[in-house]
Order: sequence, then structure tokens, then C-alpha cells
Amino acid sequence: MRTVMRGGVYRALTVVAALTLAPVAAHADAAPGPAEGRLIGFGALTAVKEHLRALQAVADIYHGTRAAGTRGHDASRDYVAAKLRAAGYQVTVQPFDFPFYQERSTALMERVAPAHKVYTPTPPDGSGLGDFATMSYSGRGDVIAALQNVDLVLPPGPTPSTSTSGCEAADFAGFTPGKIALLQRGTCTFLVKARNAQAAGAVAAIIFNEGQPGRTATPQGNLGEPVSIPVVGASFAVGQELATGATVHLKTDTISEVRTTSNVIADSPWGDPNKVVMSGAHLDSVLEGPGINDNGSGSAALLAVAEALGKIPTRNRLRFAWWSAEELGLLGSKFYVEHLTPARRSRIKLYLNYDMIASPNYALKIYDGDDSDATGEPAGPPGSAEIEKLFESYYDLLHQGHNGTDFDGRSDYGPFIAAGIASGGLFTGGEGIKTAQEAALFGGTAGQPYDACYHKACDTTTNINDRALALNTGAIAAAALVYAFKPVLPGPAAAAEPAAETAAITAIADTGAELRGRIKR
Ligand SMILES: [Zn+2]
Repeated sequence: MRTVMRGGVYRALTVVAALTLAPVAAHADAAPGPAEGRLIGFGALTAVKEHLRALQAVADIYHGTRAAGTRGHDASRDYVAAKLRAAGYQVTVQPFDFPFYQERSTALMERVAPAHKVYTPTPPDGSGLGDFATMSYSGRGDVIAALQNVDLVLPPGPTPSTSTSGCEAADFAGFTPGKIALLQRGTCTFLVKARNAQAAGAVAAIIFNEGQPGRTATPQGNLGEPVSIPVVGASFAVGQELATGATVHLKTDTISEVRTTSNVIADSPWGDPNKVVMSGAHLDSVLEGPGINDNGSGSAALLAVAEALGKIPTRNRLRFAWWSAEELGLLGSKFYVEHLTPARRSRIKLYLNYDMIASPNYALKIYDGDDSDATGEPAGPPGSAEIEKLFESYYDLLHQGHNGTDFDGRSDYGPFIAAGIASGGLFTGGEGIKTAQEAALFGGTAGQPYDACYHKACDTTTNINDRALALNTGAIAAAALVYAFKPVLPGPAAAAEPAAETAAITAIADTGAELRGRIKR
């Protein structure tokens, strides 16, 4: 195992040198020399592994997580920022507020009158759907109170959203403060209903499903913003039962509040600031685990590559980003892109994303920039197809199979694509299942998840495939270096000068042919 791994490392990093040195030499203002190639070749993977151990150590200290809004993330951020400053980058720690939510223990709901009855809860991880479930961003509380029905439609109307229960403040005209509001799904958001209930003096809110076919199960709702009273969803059956009148004991154990977290952005001092080549990885984990593959892998590889490149004068400006709150909906990258002025945004010529690059049962997936797979989302902005081609060339040179992965919006390229910036990147698979075809290409086990520890406590340093990590660290370094020196970057301008693009790809291919003999010795 170890020997195979070292072979993979050697080959991947040899190709980095080949990819980067040859094609840039003809055009670059200041091309990287053999010394720089060696710097990356011999230093990067050792550094990646060291960074992964550091992130694991952070999680071990801070209760097993590096999630946005926790001390584990703050420590990860400080670690990355310090390494980048030492490597010569201008580092910006960009703070932003976001709604933090955690359910600390399983909720309780019981009817204390007319007759005692305990309802089955839904555990915090959402598994085993019960009679009721705490809504995300529910407040914390422990109350015993009589219920008061709010504008219910029972039996339910013929179509969804016949009910407007709790959507208007007027629904609470006769509401007695201190009671629990019993609400029905329909017409407006759970947040509107919960906020109106809170404003009317309710000590908690139970929102039951509306009752039409397909709308009877316990809703696992997300309020989206912190609410201070306990808010749970309940099945239609429970709602119907409680609507006849009851006193209920409801207890939720949550943290639901606005917290501050930050992105880390690092600019190289070199190159044309009007031609920015940007690469990013999310640094936050989920609350349930240390997030070493997701996404310590992309974060550590990007950091090692940035460190290796910090002292190299380049033609274009390199910028690296470590996003926070990706796991809560790409919040950090969205904040960054939305707060760019039009001028600053137009300087970013391309964005490369690295999220989960060393899954234990990996597939080597390249974001489908040209929509050649014809699935899911359409092609990326102009230039995305060329980025995909560059990564394909890299793997091809190694005689290493690869396949495509859709721009399905599940990582931080999303806001860049929305802003029309050429995008691409790598992914080795998450909770999805490896196909037989992929097992033939990459080894591993078909019919099993790419990462069985996805979003779990077992996503530790043992949840890393070293071969995938080595190959993809090489790919990240190669892409950064190729674009750092390319006179014409992918995108609309490049389309006007196809000859320059073709020349660069041909140079890579030529180098590959020459290299092939050496690899196979
Ligand atoms: Zn991720």
C-alpha cells in the first residue's frame, strides 16, 4: 500500500513540474524555474499531511468539530492565516454574521391533560422520524401550557395551502399570552407562523402538517432564522388529536443565535492585479465531525500549494480563499462574491474549487464545465470548458482515468458561476455510491459510498485516501501554476484568441508524451 502510494506521489508531482514548466516558458514574464518545480514536487505532499494532522488536532481540542461559529473553526482559520502570512501573502480575514443552530439533545413532547401521552421524538441528526421534530433555528425552552388553536382548517381543505393558519397577525386576535400556539402548515413559511406566534405572546409553537395526501408526515422544517420560542413540527395525526384541546409539556434543547465567522483570503504580492486567478476550499466542517476529508483535504492541499507558490513571481495574480459556513449553504463564498464591487469582480478571471479531494473510496471527478455529460445544470460560464480540459490533460498524462461531475450547486463555485466567472475544480465523491464503471477506473468498491464517513464523526485523518490526495495536490498545483503564467486566461477573451489556448494545451500534451517514457520506467 505504502509503496503504491509513493509511486503515485512521485508521478503526480513529476507531472506538476512538466505541466507547469514547459507550457509557460514561451510566454511568461517570469517563468518558474527548475528550483520552483522542485519546491512543489518535494515539499507539497508532506506539508498537506502535516496540515491535515493540525486540523485534526484542532478538532480534538474543540469537541470534535470545526464547524462555522465554533472555536474549532476559529482555530482552523487562525492556523491557515498564520501559515499564509509566513509564506508572504497579504491575508484578509473577512468576517460575516450568520445564523448558528445546534440541537444539543433530543426534544420532549408529552400531553399532560386530558390524559398523559408521550409523543415519539425525532433525534437531532434527523434519523428515525417521530411524531414531532424540532424545527431548525427553534429556540430553547421547557414549557407546560394549554394549547390554543390558531385558524385551523379541520378537516383539511381539498388542496394544499387551503390553510392560512398563523400567516396574519389577525389570526392571533383572541390569543391568550402564555399559551402554546397550535398551528397548521400552509400558505406562508414556518418562520412567518412562528414569528407571529411569538409576537402574540405564545410560549411555544407546534406546526402540524396540513392533512392532504402527501402532507401528513412530521415536517422537518427549517425556520432559516433564529426564533426565541420552541418551535416543533408535528404529524397531521398528532395535530388533529391535540386540536381537540390539551395541555402539553414541550422541551427543546437548542442553540439558535446569530454568530460571526470569517473567510480567509490570501493575495500573492506578485502578478497583474487585474488578472486574478482564484482558488478556494471551504474550511468549515459540520457540527457532527472534524471534517478532515470534507474539507480538510481541499483546505490542506490548497494551503500547501499556496505556501509553495508564495515566493514565485508570476505573470497573473494568485488569490486563495478558505470559505466558512459552506456547510450551511455556501454562506462565506456568497458573502464574498456579493460584496465585490463590479470592478473587483471583473478582475477575477477564473475560480477553481476543491471540496473533498481524498475520499477513501474515491473517484477522480472534474466539474463538467462544458456540460458534455448532459446531466443536471448547464455548462459553466465561458472558460469553464477549458478549465475542465486542463484537469483532463493532467490526469491523461498520468494515464489516470477520470470522469465528470455536474455543477449541481453543492459547493462554493456556485456564487462564482452565478456571477459569470469561469469555474472548475475537483471532487472525489461524497455520500453518493460508486459505480462499477468507476471501480474499474479507480479501484475501490462499487456499490459503496465514496465517503462512508461523510458528515460524520469518523471523518478523521484515517478517512483519507493518500493516492487521491497526492494526485489532486499535484492537480491543484498544476492548475495554479499554469494559470499563474498563462498570457490569455480562459474566458470570453480567450475565445477570441483560440490559437493561444490551443498552443498551451498542445504544449502540455507534448510534455506528457515526453514524460510518459520516464513514468513507465
Ligand atoms: Zn464540503
